Amino acid sequence: MIPEMPMNSVSRREAIARAAAAMGLGGAVLAGSGAAMPGIALGRPGAGARKRVLRLAHLTDMHVQPERRAGEGFAAALRHVQSHDDRPELIVTGGDLIMDCFAADEARTRAQWDLWSRLLREECSLPLEHCIGNHDIWGWNQEKSGTTGREAMYGHAWALDVLGLASRYRAFDRAGWRFVVLDSTFRVGNTYTARLDEEQFEWLSRTLAETPRSRPVLVLSHIPILSASAFFDGECEKDGDWKVPGSWMHIDARRIKDLFFRHPNVRLCLSGHIHLVDRVDYLGVTYLCNGAVSGAWWKGSNQECEAGYCIVDLYDDGSFEHAYIGFGWAGVPD
Ligand SMILES: [Zn+2]
Repeated sequence: MIPEMPMNSVSRREAIARAAAAMGLGGAVLAGSGAAMPGIALGRPGAGARKRVLRLAHLTDMHVQPERRAGEGFAAALRHVQSHDDRPELIVTGGDLIMDCFAADEARTRAQWDLWSRLLREECSLPLEHCIGNHDIWGWNQEKSGTTGREAMYGHAWALDVLGLASRYRAFDRAGWRFVVLDSTFRVGNTYTARLDEEQFEWLSRTLAETPRSRPVLVLSHIPILSASAFFDGECEKDGDWKVPGSWMHIDARRIKDLFFRHPNVRLCLSGHIHLVDRVDYLGVTYLCNGAVSGAWWKGSNQECEAGYCIVDLYDDGSFEHAYIGFGWAGVPD
């Protein structure tokens, strides 16, 4: 359990480090816990103590590229993840695995995916489950990438092939939890917005309807469904009104929130994209935006967010604990 954090007597950083220490982790910058589900029978009746069923590491926004020592930085992150005494059993990635192929030509895209694959082969012995980000979709900006749309590896095909995935969204069960992996990137001409297409929304509705109420659900998306830090990703307020672009946070968040409200076993949503860390608790669902392995795209910290990843402990009663961990990577500033 995370201990009570007396914010008035110790610094925020100190309190946060203490919370992470309670999880047996070093260098954390954010931690918290999820309470058991109200009004729903989860876990083993009569069992006083909940049981941890899975420790995972959520690594998002790696933005692997040949420049700025990104490869070394990602290798350092992978080593850090695997160095904990109580090490994670699974890595889930959050998309933006490579710097960008949305607007890149074929040679540049190949160089980035080759580096990605080599690093995982050489540096990672843990099982992985991947989520695709906007920067992992090849050539949708046809103007800049020089694609025609007829290439065999166009769009999601290249990422799916490299990652060994059959579909851009999917669900699977692990340790008594259901994992739902979404594809946030909805094409709009040469760019995108964050939303689920109709086919995917229907699939999500069906998947949640078919999931037993006793099975807690973790949702993984690249772009946050709901996020506080989206307000600070750029100067959203400069014209005197808060304007969060639909490409920063799911523009269909209301619809998804309504769907989740009908399924109280949806417990936890993990995302990236913003390169900032936040936690939003809304209507029984916790939304964690988990920073970025690349920090500020390998230039150092992004605002207050250092290059890092999140450790998430899942329990049999549908509760969880989490801590964002910096891995001490300075980056290469401009
Ligand atoms: Zn990113």
